[in-house]
Amino acid sequence: MFDLIIRGGQVVTPDGVGRFNVGVVGEKIVAVQVQDLGTEAARIIDLGDKILVPGGIEPHAHMYSVIGMHPEERFLTLGPEEDTVGMAFGGTTTHLDFCFVHPAIDIPKALAQRLGRWKNKSYVDYSFHIALGGPLPLKVFDQIGDAIAEGFPSFKVFTADTLPPHPKRHPFRLDYGRIQYAMERLARHGGIMAVHGEDHELVQFNYQRFTEEGRTHGTNLALVHTKLSEQLSFRNTIQLAEATGAAVYFVHTSAREGVEAVVEARAKRLPVYAETLHNYACFNAEDYAKPHGFCYHTYPSLKFPDDQAALWEGLVRDGVSTVGTDEFPTSLQVKLHGDRIDNVTGGNLGAEARMGIIYSEGVVKRGMSLTRFADVTAANAARIMGLYPRKGIIATGSDADLCVIDPAIAKTLTREDFHVSDYSPWEGWRITGWPVMTILRGKVIVENGKLLGALDYGRVIPRKIDAAILNRPAS
Ligand SMILES: [Zn+2]
Repeated sequence: MFDLIIRGGQVVTPDGVGRFNVGVVGEKIVAVQVQDLGTEAARIIDLGDKILVPGGIEPHAHMYSVIGMHPEERFLTLGPEEDTVGMAFGGTTTHLDFCFVHPAIDIPKALAQRLGRWKNKSYVDYSFHIALGGPLPLKVFDQIGDAIAEGFPSFKVFTADTLPPHPKRHPFRLDYGRIQYAMERLARHGGIMAVHGEDHELVQFNYQRFTEEGRTHGTNLALVHTKLSEQLSFRNTIQLAEATGAAVYFVHTSAREGVEAVVEARAKRLPVYAETLHNYACFNAEDYAKPHGFCYHTYPSLKFPDDQAALWEGLVRDGVSTVGTDEFPTSLQVKLHGDRIDNVTGGNLGAEARMGIIYSEGVVKRGMSLTRFADVTAANAARIMGLYPRKGIIATGSDADLCVIDPAIAKTLTREDFHVSDYSPWEGWRITGWPVMTILRGKVIVENGKLLGALDYGRVIPRKIDAAILNRPAS
């Protein structure tokens, strides 16, 4: 007797795509097989021509986060109770947000605050990367091992301050000395370093230069946050990682230079991984000049068509392991609040569209296989961040986190397709294929355009990264 049987469509597993029957009991998948599972189930879903993929994993979200571009306004991004509605509609069943540690707070206190804020406030499962920022006292780094043991094995650093100095802004940058110090501890305890890679000196000099030259309009962002800056910081970081034995995950890779640095490191068998964003792959610096063009901006910056080609090449074949969003949910008014190089609101409102856009742009338009689609939207993030095989895979024993995609939907996205804010950067985008049902640990949370989940269903998921991921490029 099953609680749920799903049958009849294409089911995407690591062993191939086929007409498998999937049986669920409670929160777990208990059968994935060609043989019929019978009809003894509380519910049977016939997929017809639809596709069943693992529930998406959003590796990069900033909810309930201070909007540092406008420090005098004290704006916050929307909280999980608002933004995870979009994740549920968009087929994403787990997200990773950030827990910021700065000189005034240590790791256990920061984690407790974040966990308290999320409790009973997320429609999907979650965990946190621990972000280390600013001139942290060295004793904080002694807490890294305990945090990893408690199930939080990913740490995030910024190699640059993204914005120029401001008296009311926390400096986020961690100096290379402290990055090395953290990496030594991650290598010892089984953690991974997520890196926002930009060259601090180049970016800060560009702010001074462009200000002096009067070129402060936000359309210049790609000339301030440059391709060369990504190249220098990625390569420096990879050398630190090689020297310390740490594994590295570059968030929001934006440039061909970034992809090439990662591909070279992986060819040397270093455990180095790249994430890109669907807006980096789909938009470029020319889009800044369009009406509402700053909707597409995320720091560092949109780049150029050749960079987009490199990101797609990495996603469809190899070299770019995951698609994140740098989710930063706000109203349209807040997103468009600044128009200068030093105050365009960063981040993206994209988690709801992430699975659908990558299906449409990757699978339909660029020949990405369905297995690769499952890898870049779910399985790789699960492996690299230590959620695998509980999450990110349709297999016996895994959580029944599932997304049904209807490949027959062909339309132009409108405001009504989105459920989080008063806008989406994807309004007007033409798609083929879109998520229509989402299941979290056996429970249908979205179906037929209706939210059926509840805020107390999302849970924090303890993580542990497999040694293979930390020792060589294994995802
Ligand atoms: Zn981010």
